[in-house]
Amino acid sequence: MRNGFRSLLLAASILMAAPVHAFAAKTVVVDAGHGGSDPGAVGVNGLYEKHVNFDIAMKLKQLLLGQGYDVVLTRTTDDFISLAERVERTNAAAPSLFVSVHANSHPNSGVGGSLVLYYDRQYPQEDYPPSDAMAALTPESKKLASLVLEHVLAEAGFADKGIVPSAAYVIRMGQVPSILVETAFLSNAGDASRLADESVRQKLANGIAAGIAAYLPLPAVFPDLADHWARDAVLRLKDKGIVEGIDNRYIPDRPMTRAEWLTVGDRLFGFSKLLEKVGTSPSKDVPNAASFPDLPKSHWAYATFRQALKLGFINGYEDGTVRPDQPVTRAEAAALLERMSEGANKTAWTGKTDFADVPASYWASGPIYRMKQKGILDGVTDKTFAPAKSMTRAEMAALIDRYVALPASARTAAPDAAADKAPTSSAASSSEASAESAPATGPSAASAPSTTSSAASPSAATPSPSATPAPSPSGETASQTESPAARGTPSTAATPAAP
Ligand SMILES: [Zn+2]
Repeated sequence: MRNGFRSLLLAASILMAAPVHAFAAKTVVVDAGHGGSDPGAVGVNGLYEKHVNFDIAMKLKQLLLGQGYDVVLTRTTDDFISLAERVERTNAAAPSLFVSVHANSHPNSGVGGSLVLYYDRQYPQEDYPPSDAMAALTPESKKLASLVLEHVLAEAGFADKGIVPSAAYVIRMGQVPSILVETAFLSNAGDASRLADESVRQKLANGIAAGIAAYLPLPAVFPDLADHWARDAVLRLKDKGIVEGIDNRYIPDRPMTRAEWLTVGDRLFGFSKLLEKVGTSPSKDVPNAASFPDLPKSHWAYATFRQALKLGFINGYEDGTVRPDQPVTRAEAAALLERMSEGANKTAWTGKTDFADVPASYWASGPIYRMKQKGILDGVTDKTFAPAKSMTRAEMAALIDRYVALPASARTAAPDAAADKAPTSSAASSSEASAESAPATGPSAASAPSTTSSAASPSAATPSPSATPAPSPSGETASQTESPAARGTPSTAATPAAP
């Protein structure tokens, strides 16, 4: 057994030592042309180009976000932004591609239709040298231009004016495939009146988005995990029905909330099944879910909290709250996982303490060191665990993924802790009760629920964890009333600290 664990541990540490790539989803820069003191073209119907561009750009942004791209806008207000500034902002975003949205104008009011500009090194203009990158990117920009034009024409139905080599600044000076879409002509009465129609602008946005998707396809599932270090773990858990995303995004780097963590726990261990085993006699001192002011019945995870309370997995904080939307801390995650998997009321740790910030007296020292011993949880450094740090949805997935990969015997018992394995059956483990961030006071150890198979309840939607370093102490994360997947903004900091 010991040897078995040693090799398991070794395997796990190799796993955790794997290089950490925290790439973002594929990013598109959307540039709404003109703005502020620069109206761009003015339509025969009085329409300002800057407003048309901005509206289409916003619609495009929404479409791309919905598909799983990250989107950066060069302007978010009706303000003047120089061309150089637009390129600088684009370079700073290091996107996969750049698309500028414009409407056209021509002295001949008979001219109408859609066209797409790109820089082409075959048609250099001496006075307007391109960046080296853009010259080299000619084939890419040209391909992007063709695909976008094709989809714009199919969606919006303006006349086909083709793709056009151009030395326009924003598509000549950047570092990534770049195009400028001239949606239609404001100088043409027919085009201009269609551009005034919001449904037509939506079609134009649809077309541009479709062209971008054709050029830069995303994985069908969780495109925001495209190159993420936790992608494989998340997809394995998704297959098992343990984690879910939000609008096809996983949002890996957002902190996981306590509600999300319990939901994942429910899918993993099956709270209803555990309650059946416990029978109808959960201890009477179990807190009533309805007694927590911060857990309204309308909360999406209310039922799960009720079950978790009955099972003794959580008891609420000393101030009478249960904080469903607060990020779960690393210590809470360890403690909850141990309670859910073993149902036993473990004592504090008496072995060697490797982490300076987790002394034996720490409320969650037992779970933390036992999880470490199993090789599924490690410090942020050799000497530091950062118990109060929140866990990202990605980190949580990695933890659960390692947990479900454990042999069944290891899932339910701590290797060295045979001694304190005997479940004390009611005990309000004082070691845990005092912690300022203890998720709960003592787990009232219901009969050790044997871990159900890893894939237990394949319910549909679960969110997952993510990573903002400092968990707000009093749960003011995005309130999530309608969906288990919170709508928090993905945080950018994503260094997975080997959860
Ligand atoms: Zn323009």
